[in-house]
Amino acid sequence: MSYGPRRAVLVLIDGARADVLRELLERGDLPNLARWVIEPGGFGVGTTVFPSTTGVAYIPFLFGRYPGSVGIPGIRWLDRRRAAGGWLEQWHAARSYCGVQGGWINRDILPAPSLFDLVPESIAICTPLTRGLVPGANRILLRRAVLGAAAHYAGTYAALDRAVARAWLAAAAEPWRFLFVVFPGVDGITHLKDPTHSAVLESYRLVDRALGDFVTRLQKEGNDLPAFFVVSDHGATVMREHRDVAVLLEQDDVPTLRHPVHVWRRGARVATMVSGNASVQLYFEPRSGRARPRSEAEIPGALLERLVAFPGVRLAACRADTEGLIVRTKSSRARLTEAAGLIRYEPETGDPLGLGGPVEMADRELLSRTRETDVPDAPRQLLQLFQTSRAGDVVLAAEPGTDFRGPWEIPEHRAGHGSLIAEHMEVPLAASMALPDAPIRTVDLMPTIVEHLGAAVPDSVTFDGVPFSRLAATTEPVSR
Ligand SMILES: [Zn+2]
Repeated sequence: MSYGPRRAVLVLIDGARADVLRELLERGDLPNLARWVIEPGGFGVGTTVFPSTTGVAYIPFLFGRYPGSVGIPGIRWLDRRRAAGGWLEQWHAARSYCGVQGGWINRDILPAPSLFDLVPESIAICTPLTRGLVPGANRILLRRAVLGAAAHYAGTYAALDRAVARAWLAAAAEPWRFLFVVFPGVDGITHLKDPTHSAVLESYRLVDRALGDFVTRLQKEGNDLPAFFVVSDHGATVMREHRDVAVLLEQDDVPTLRHPVHVWRRGARVATMVSGNASVQLYFEPRSGRARPRSEAEIPGALLERLVAFPGVRLAACRADTEGLIVRTKSSRARLTEAAGLIRYEPETGDPLGLGGPVEMADRELLSRTRETDVPDAPRQLLQLFQTSRAGDVVLAAEPGTDFRGPWEIPEHRAGHGSLIAEHMEVPLAASMALPDAPIRTVDLMPTIVEHLGAAVPDSVTFDGVPFSRLAATTEPVSR
């Protein structure tokens, strides 16, 4: 069997956990993934972006950029300037890609070419990110809307995944060069049950069968196989506690703007924008119209201490008054800066990122080092998030077992993601080409695919990721 050099398929199993996928592989439950992807290539564990949540965590795959590099700090965020406007402006300002504003993510992403722009012969199936797709290339648009809504409330994700599988098979004979296929079922059912529930495991098997059918169809028509990449955008953990930060603040008599119905909260002193639901960004004095984010000294000190001390918070971060970021836990504090290609971590009290002491390292070296901690890639991920002035004044990342959204999550999320913890940040990464002997981020996939396809990239375009071919050989992003 020959593998055609100029075509690629990226299969995104939303919310697939690396350990669950590996166990199913070892049991022989994913024979097509083993045979057509992993045998000719490899399987590894990569890391995603923060916040580790659907949509936001798709940006690396399709843009080769971190969400913070292109102005998307979360699945919900506050447009500070517009939040001071009239009631309609206020609704616009309280951005949430979870509901009717879902499609706005495509226009909110700052100018940058998507993989679809760079490879116009692309087809996408069931994606919320559609920028750059030519007319007709965005498949099952209507079924995604109808079956997606039904699945959200009734849990009927298998019907949606089967529609994806059918559309994937139907696309086999078409003259695409890049195919992006999203299966939402694993994530959707995980939220309602838990990451290892039998219905979730069956969703993994459904994807594997769809892959087998797709390969068979290509072979029947005498086509070479494309390069395959099978990945996920985040992991998940069981949630035992829903600690809604907005509810806790309101109990302290702090009026708090939040979704879905309190976006017009009168006299709001804080806005809470939840992603995942295990991360939340807070914006102080949200009606002030001030566009510039606050640094540590401009954040009400008592409130910051309350937030850091909330049970279930793994860490908090905010902008430092001078340069870089401050990372906090209840009992520890460190400074994070980046200069001359090196990231510097300076603990002042304790060791909030668990690195064992001060560290100054190149990006990729630090990635390797942090993979051994409970918050893999945290330094880079916090720095990338706060690049955008749209990010909150403070961000909280939850510990395993806790999320930050309570009564308004309907139906209840029994499991979730969004935090910086390893169980949310680690993702499976299978490819039909050799994987580099180095830690991989999801942001490396796009430059790898662009290189594989030989797509032309304008000189003005930069990627945050590094193609596999150069990963083992270098420690610096080479495309900058
Ligand atoms: Zn997801």
